Amino acid sequence: MHARVLIIGSGPAGYTASIYAARAGLETVLLMGHMAGGQLMLTHEVENYPGFTKISGIDLMENFQKQAESVGVALKYESAVKVDFSNRPFKVETDMGAQWTADSVIIATGSEAKWLEIPSEEKYKGHGVSVCATCDGFFYKGKNVAVIGGGSSAVYEALFLSQIAQSVTLIHRRDTLRAEKKLQSQVLSNPKIQIRWDSEVVEFQGDERLKSIVIVNKKTKVESILPVDGVFVAIGHHPKTELFQGQIDIEASGYIKTNKKTLETSVPGVFACGDVQEEIFRQAIIAAGTGCVAALSAERFLMNNK
Ligand code: NAP
Repeated sequence: MHARVLIIGSGPAGYTASIYAARAGLETVLLMGHMAGGQLMLTHEVENYPGFTKISGIDLMENFQKQAESVGVALKYESAVKVDFSNRPFKVETDMGAQWTADSVIIATGSEAKWLEIPSEEKYKGHGVSVCATCDGFFYKGKNVAVIGGGSSAVYEALFLSQIAQSVTLIHRRDTLRAEKKLQSQVLSNPKIQIRWDSEVVEFQGDERLKSIVIVNKKTKVESILPVDGVFVAIGHHPKTELFQGQIDIEASGYIKTNKKTLETSVPGVFACGDVQEEIFRQAIIAAGTGCVAALSAERFLMNNK
């Protein structure tokens, strides 16, 4: 099975790359994974994707998928499990046992949520500790929850949960938020949200389910216990690049190194777009834009390397 352009990942970056590649007349295959749509599938409402005043993340990604289908992209519910970029055509193996070859590959595998990685966290994952308020918030109707983090994701989660839960405690390790200013003012003026500044969660406690968390104030060193029914960890993401270790150059931070003009990786003919190579501004619109750049670069590469 051969593709002119094989794209791995189905967030805004992967879909956009696929739409541009297919519309350039290139036989394009998109490996979507088993949960197509990427991180936006976990986003309740999107208000900053130009062209849509307000749209749910799921609806936005369904639109991307329909558009990709309509221009002839071959969509595959498969995940890449092994790649070999040592020679062209490149080789990509999937978890469904498919062996693909491709003249050009575009990596759009995105990033995934980080966990605190403290010993008790594992025990309560799915039993009170979550990384997705949009997915799990409903279970905490009228209950007391906490959100950990100070970035836009944490503030978004806190605002979202304030519509469902009885109380929300936002726990941040510093005394200023990193989140966008507009979100900051919303969270600071929300009567249902209390903020614990300079604070770290050091332990999750409970029986079968989470019952409380142990918090340490980093300045005073005072330890306190906060009874909670649920905790949402929202401390950022890390890029999904394990599959490409040893095949292309990867930054120490885990993000794929690219030529910022063409998005070509250290291997000619292999490109990367979206959050997997974007360390600073991880936005859907940027992911989509870089998907376009990667596809146009791939097209140019194929034209020059017949
Ligand atoms: P982020 O901006 O990297 O923020 C992560 C937050 O978690 C920071 O406040 C950080 O603290 C804290 N943190 C990191 N590791 C921690 C640890 N081990 N323990 C405790 N706290 C920890 O990540 P993000 O909020 O997911 O946002 C990522 C990108 O997406 C950003 O560019 C953001 O603007 C964007 N975004 C935008 C929207 C929107 O609607 N426009 C929504 C969500 C995300 P420090 O501040 O001390 O580093």
